[in-house]
Amino acid sequence: MTLTVIDRADAFHKALEAERQAGRSVGLVPTMGYLHAGHTSLMRRAAAECDVGAATSFVNPLQFAPTEDLAAYPRDPEGDRAKAAAAGVDIFFAPPIDEMFPEPPRTAVTVAGLSEILEGKSRPSHFAGVATVVTKLFALAGPCRAYFGEKDYQQLAVIRRLVQDLSLPVEVVGCPTVRDTDGLALSSRNAYLTAAERAVAPALYRALSAGRRLIEEDHETDPAAVRAAMHTMITAEPLMTLDYTEVVNAADLAPLSTISGEVRLLIAVRLGRARLIDNMGAAT
Ligand code: AMP
Repeated sequence: MTLTVIDRADAFHKALEAERQAGRSVGLVPTMGYLHAGHTSLMRRAAAECDVGAATSFVNPLQFAPTEDLAAYPRDPEGDRAKAAAAGVDIFFAPPIDEMFPEPPRTAVTVAGLSEILEGKSRPSHFAGVATVVTKLFALAGPCRAYFGEKDYQQLAVIRRLVQDLSLPVEVVGCPTVRDTDGLALSSRNAYLTAAERAVAPALYRALSAGRRLIEEDHETDPAAVRAAMHTMITAEPLMTLDYTEVVNAADLAPLSTISGEVRLLIAVRLGRARLIDNMGAAT
């Protein structure tokens, strides 16, 4: 099947409905475009595990605060179509803003408890914007498997919970983070980095790896010690401004008094014009 590009919401809905009517399963990959190998790894997996691979590209204004980079967010619609086709996507939905939101929506989906912590402290309206648009994309797509990256670990937790709470007919699949050879997690926002900033960016991966080693090899059970070790490595980089280093329960992102079982290490920094986030799992 060659790539069908759709920019109308009802046409997208009908196309996926027709596939299901014909007995074919649908795999969905929501993105904001400017595709890289992280996005295409999700698309390849959706295409491999489902009969029809669908991807969306929509830079969602609801998830950007007025001070953030909505206008500057990098875009490459032609390149995106070629990369999606090469990754096995059959149906590519790339709506203009007024197709998704002909009027500013009065309805918001908020996932309380998961949205105010970590990223939510710096970006208070971000996850409501994400949850609202993802709920809308799920409504348009209909029953499907939906593939999301662990790169945005808190986002994945928010989406799993909204699907559970609202009984949406979607099976959420979390996929591993794709990294550059030096460990930097691929991100559309890496395009903002100067050469000097790009050179120090792998410090996030190194700090997370050191945190994981502390837990898994040195059997450190004090979350403050792991946070402090990551904090020291990040603040040693003069170009980076630390937002947070955290160690939380991997399932519900709850704070820990003692490290035990499956945990998640998370870091957010500002580096030049970019805000970079990354995370890694560790287990005792
Ligand atoms: P975005 O376009 O940044 O909104 O990302 C769209 C989807 O791709 C989300 O599910 C992200 O978690 C996922 N994603 C982004 N970067 C990566 C990466 N480096 N590895 C795996 N998945 C990623």
